[in-house]
Amino acid sequence: MKAAILTSPQRVPDRPLLVEDVPRPEPGAGQVLLRVRACGVCRTDLHIVEGELAPLRASVIPGHQIAGEIVAGATPELPLGTRVGVSWIGGTDGKCAYCRRNLENLCDSPTFTGYSVNGGYAEFAVARSDFVFPLPAALDDRHAAPLLCAGIIGFRSLRVAGIEPGERVGLFGFGASAHLAIEVLHAWNCEVYVSTRGASHRKLAESLGAKWVGSESDRPPVELDRAVTFAPSGDVVVLALSSLRKGGVVAINAIHLDRIPEFDYDRLLWGERQIRSVANMTRADARDFLKLAAEIHLQPRITIFPLDQANEALAAIKNDSIDGAAVILP
Ligand SMILES: [Zn+2]
Ligand SMILES: [Zn+2]
Repeated sequence: MKAAILTSPQRVPDRPLLVEDVPRPEPGAGQVLLRVRACGVCRTDLHIVEGELAPLRASVIPGHQIAGEIVAGATPELPLGTRVGVSWIGGTDGKCAYCRRNLENLCDSPTFTGYSVNGGYAEFAVARSDFVFPLPAALDDRHAAPLLCAGIIGFRSLRVAGIEPGERVGLFGFGASAHLAIEVLHAWNCEVYVSTRGASHRKLAESLGAKWVGSESDRPPVELDRAVTFAPSGDVVVLALSSLRKGGVVAINAIHLDRIPEFDYDRLLWGERQIRSVANMTRADARDFLKLAAEIHLQPRITIFPLDQANEALAAIKNDSIDGAAVILP
């Protein structure tokens, strides 16, 4: 099969991914083999190929937003031909203290799709059958793919921020995840304030009904109840914190930040404001979000790249040169 492979992390302009022919993987016990129909590109993929996340194996096929069709390893619950999604959490041990507390997103021995095991920048991929999610018929493959990490983890971020219906919510950064989160927030009757770099991202936020849109250094004109930051920048976290009312929460939807700058505790965090990180996702997050996405007819904006142009897809994310999500078609 054809696959895009990372052997040594490099900056994206140096074309870290090589598209090659490799043996088709065989499903083991408890696994399914998927024909990949589409694979979304996530900012985390960028951190993997550029080495901000240290390599876990000698080579890896990235990609953890896989929409595929079961072609082997079928079970009575997952018959041949079932369309399923695979996300960043490819498996957990099911027995550590976190799994036992129903916090499988914090599992001590997790499997990460496209990082600790091969992912979906390929024609075929294997996945644990208990970590695939049947896709609602309302979602086609290429529009379902970006929901599988950007969408699910964006949804988890809204939960971690503790958003209540009707609240004022700030989204800081407006890429693949935020442009889905805004639609969920509108379904919850929230007012959404967007600070982001990039004129086209600001235009997209306006077209999706944001109450106010500003640049990446603009503070929203009202005090926010909650905020979610998407940019990999600690300055943005502090800007979001400075926009909160007392008791408000900033949820950081980023697996990597450049740094957290020093800030004034008395003015910014006092008053029971909170900063929380968002780590991974649970299967319940995935199921709840996919159900909601089908109900509200969530339609991500996508830009398609053929597998041969996987490096270009990563460059597009890095340079913020597309709106919404990049999707690779094998
Ligand atoms: Zn565990
Ligand atoms: Zn991701």
